[in-house]
Amino acid sequence: MRGSSLRVSSFGLLSEIGFRSSGFIVLLLTLTLPTHSAAPLADNSSSPHAIVRTVGLDEARWTDGFWFERFENLRTNMLPSMVRLMEGTNDSQYFENFRIAAGLTEGRPRGAPFNDGDFYKLLEAASATLAVTNDAVLERHLERTIDVIAKAQRADGYIHTPVLIRQRNGDTNARPFRDRNNFEMYNMGHLLTAACLHHRVTGRTNFLSVARKAADFLDATFRDASPESARSSVCPSHYMGMVELYRTTREPRYLALAKKLFELRGQIADGGDDNQDRIPFERQTNAMGHAVRANYLYAGAADLFMETGDESLWKPLGPIWTNVVQRKMHITGGCGALYDGASPDGSRDQETITRTHQAYGRNYQLPNTTAHNETCASIGSVLWNWRMFLTTGEARFVDVLELALYNSALSGVSLDGTNFFYTNPLRVTDPMPVELRWSRTRVPFVSSFCCPPNILRTIAESASYAYAKSSDAIWVNLYGANTLTTKVRGRTVKLAQETESPWNGRVRITVKECGAEVFGLKLRVPGWAKGVLLRVNGALQQVSAMPASYIELQRAWKPGDVVEMDLPMPVRLMEANPLVEETLNQIAVQRGPIVYCLESADLPAGTRISDVLIPAGIDLVARYDRRLLGGVVILEGMAQARPAAKWNDELYREVQHATTAPLKIVLVPYSVWANRGGGEMSVWLPRAAATAPR
Ligand SMILES: [Zn+2]
Repeated sequence: MRGSSLRVSSFGLLSEIGFRSSGFIVLLLTLTLPTHSAAPLADNSSSPHAIVRTVGLDEARWTDGFWFERFENLRTNMLPSMVRLMEGTNDSQYFENFRIAAGLTEGRPRGAPFNDGDFYKLLEAASATLAVTNDAVLERHLERTIDVIAKAQRADGYIHTPVLIRQRNGDTNARPFRDRNNFEMYNMGHLLTAACLHHRVTGRTNFLSVARKAADFLDATFRDASPESARSSVCPSHYMGMVELYRTTREPRYLALAKKLFELRGQIADGGDDNQDRIPFERQTNAMGHAVRANYLYAGAADLFMETGDESLWKPLGPIWTNVVQRKMHITGGCGALYDGASPDGSRDQETITRTHQAYGRNYQLPNTTAHNETCASIGSVLWNWRMFLTTGEARFVDVLELALYNSALSGVSLDGTNFFYTNPLRVTDPMPVELRWSRTRVPFVSSFCCPPNILRTIAESASYAYAKSSDAIWVNLYGANTLTTKVRGRTVKLAQETESPWNGRVRITVKECGAEVFGLKLRVPGWAKGVLLRVNGALQQVSAMPASYIELQRAWKPGDVVEMDLPMPVRLMEANPLVEETLNQIAVQRGPIVYCLESADLPAGTRISDVLIPAGIDLVARYDRRLLGGVVILEGMAQARPAAKWNDELYREVQHATTAPLKIVLVPYSVWANRGGGEMSVWLPRAAATAPR
């Protein structure tokens, strides 16, 4: 499966920079790594309460088109430039903190307390990339980095560089878990996940040993802990991490510790909605509080359920998911609508109403200009919905995963892969109604640098979401040009998927290799696809193809068999429930999984976004433009424009009647907005008044 190839590694220079020696570009023959069994992203292959299993990172590979281009950019550009940035910059330091903690150099801890966790995400992205590329220089870089991390770890397993460096520098007040905002649990959670993946990809145990020691430290520290100690778990990546470590090592203590920490959450006396610990998890029915914390918590609960079957973990997830999808998610898949808010749900007493931030609002509270929608919250939605799907095999969860992945997650990174959004609003105006904390343009670095390495690992692992398996079937989830090589019923099955998705709904899947046994191909019918046509070897199939379901084709497949799907992708004009005040009488546009927006770059100079009106009967024509924004399908049609309205300082005035003029508009995918300089942008556009009957 893994062949040798001649490749110039993008890491030739970087692996040397990492160790402060003179940089010179190394040209290498990419070496073939020892072949290991499939390296799944979340290894639920033995989980007793899962319907569907993940495929290996090395089993599904993009071969062309949308995701292949993004993966290639990741391999050749994004990953090397982030390695360079995280070696340590003037703004912050990531790897450098580990080098100081390891005693290899001197200094003080710098950067946000969650930097270690974000550095581990980069190592996870690198490991996932390695599964596909076999890049020997990248692998060597990883091994050297892991050596330093292992040296930095305390003998008892504790690892968190701000505390370790302060201890090394003689600060006797520096001790573990003194402040929940130290993010130690978040950092170590990402360590566990990254180390499990590294082990599966390389077969090595060096990083896994660091993870085990860290988990053993946590086990010793929290086995008999008080409920108060569970409050350390802000941004709880550690439930996913501990379950993954259990799956990797089969050490039951790690699973027991994850359960224990989850139970402790419910016993906190004065918790709050911002951290989802005001009431015990089993009584929660609404998504609340900080959206990254929330989605990581829900993903962790689903992971724990897959291993334990504990209904108290599963029962809340259904109502919470429905609450998000029907009341609290932006049309882009973005989660966490509010920059700042309050949670009055717990009490009528004004004194005890608590602050929330970067948070799910209350029902239908979905502002556009001030939408927070942290990129990590969208990725958290991907992680959560993936686990909901693995547990149930239900297509509706992949619908939400797809929506978040193609829109509100990818909008977090520029097309060149080196500039990032922390927040993902649905409208930007000039001037803004209020100034906001985070940048209106993508930037190479922000103090809260959690999202960039998170989007890197998501792109690196994206092919894993395209497929899944059950005992006698392959599940096709995402459509994109790729190959899959896996085993079903002990026999190798190879599939090749050809498609221009997401720009075009025609998909052709060819069976390249298979055994004689009957097995199923389960093809996802997205929630947006109505009137799907399916052919096997040219013959039209009479199958039920309800949106948000799977079509199952059970047969004794033969090499050369061809399945063709036609997923209609009409332009869809969308409106929101009128209870969403911020989008009243406005229209958004979707085509397939892609949400569109209007940008200043496509408007005549002087035309404001708010003056463009969309007739409800607008005819928008889809056209692929290979030169625009890396190659996208744009939508063109005739809208109406009001004359530029001049407002002074008044808040209200009498309606000014003005005739509108026809205006040709071009809509572009939301995920690629802000790649052509600044300007205004909106997903929701005001609806033109209906023509009065004559
Ligand atoms: Zn983030």
